[in-house]
Amino acid sequence: MFDLLKKKLSNFVEKFSNKVRETKDKAREEKKEEIVQKRELKPELKVARKVKAVFKKEIRLKEADISNMLFELELSLLEADVNEHVAKTFCDEIKKRLLSEKVPAKDASTFIKERIKETLKELMRTEKLDLITMIKNSEKPFKILFLGPNGAGKTTTIAKLTFLLKKHGFSSIWAASDTFRAASIEQLAEHAKKLNVRLIKHTYGADPAAVAYDAINAAKSSNIDVVMIDTAGRQETNRNLIEELRKIDRVVKPNIKIFVGEAFAGKNLVEQAKQFDKALNIDAFIITKIDTDAKGGSTLSLIYELKKPVIFIGTGQSYADLKPFDAEEIIERII
Ligand code: GDP
Repeated sequence: MFDLLKKKLSNFVEKFSNKVRETKDKAREEKKEEIVQKRELKPELKVARKVKAVFKKEIRLKEADISNMLFELELSLLEADVNEHVAKTFCDEIKKRLLSEKVPAKDASTFIKERIKETLKELMRTEKLDLITMIKNSEKPFKILFLGPNGAGKTTTIAKLTFLLKKHGFSSIWAASDTFRAASIEQLAEHAKKLNVRLIKHTYGADPAAVAYDAINAAKSSNIDVVMIDTAGRQETNRNLIEELRKIDRVVKPNIKIFVGEAFAGKNLVEQAKQFDKALNIDAFIITKIDTDAKGGSTLSLIYELKKPVIFIGTGQSYADLKPFDAEEIIERII
């Protein structure tokens, strides 16, 4: 009986995986077709020129040599959730660079691959932000304002960051400034209990800025290093929310404002971040759920469009699943 069930389940899983694979392949083909039509490209005709000059040490690439490869790269970027404008800009830049230099004839493909990675890394370069050093060098308490849409992982990220900072010897206190959702206060309280962190909360509907203010005072009187302020995230376009967040910003004067967004929000991630940035001038990002199906390409768009650093990525649901962001790692995943 048990074996029969096991067999049925395994058949089901196999069928399901095949279906997912088929759907992905179909989507890839459709995307390819869409780009081909849009650009009037005929990728099958753009076969790379064979490197004739086997005896030459260096060769100059022609556009036809790399058009197929660039086309595939652009597809990979799009599939990994890099937005269209950014993917095109990256590929144009790579093309420009590859056509402008001499390539070692013997090892052309390795050279090209390395150039692609280098260019992407360069395009993603932002100002470095080392949170631990910032906290070390700042007056106590260090105040972190967390912003972002609901469900992106703000509460979990606050817990993860607290766990990480504890390892570096920093104590934290939390402000439950999302007073719009009763559930969010409860959720924060659950994590606070597990991590043995003090949580400052008022009742549902209270003034979020007042909660944050109280948390700062509590930190001062108890000599706590870091104040983490959770905020509401209902509809990022909602004007009331933006006004509410601006008020917290004015009252608290945070040392850093971190936008928490989820990797598979794709194009939305950049739009959401832009709106928050316009109203509140974000300092850095934490991108969550990189462990899911998302390849993380949206982080490339985010960095390129907003020119601000991603400081951590969320890689799972447990407290230890917060890793420093490494652009190279994301690039490897994509290409
Ligand atoms: P908030 O509404 O922004 O506070 O979001 P929550 O912190 O409640 O997170 C929403 C859901 O996402 C929860 O089920 C979290 O466990 C989950 N979550 C948060 N970060 C990650 C992550 O990095 N990876 C995964 N797989 N899940 C995450």
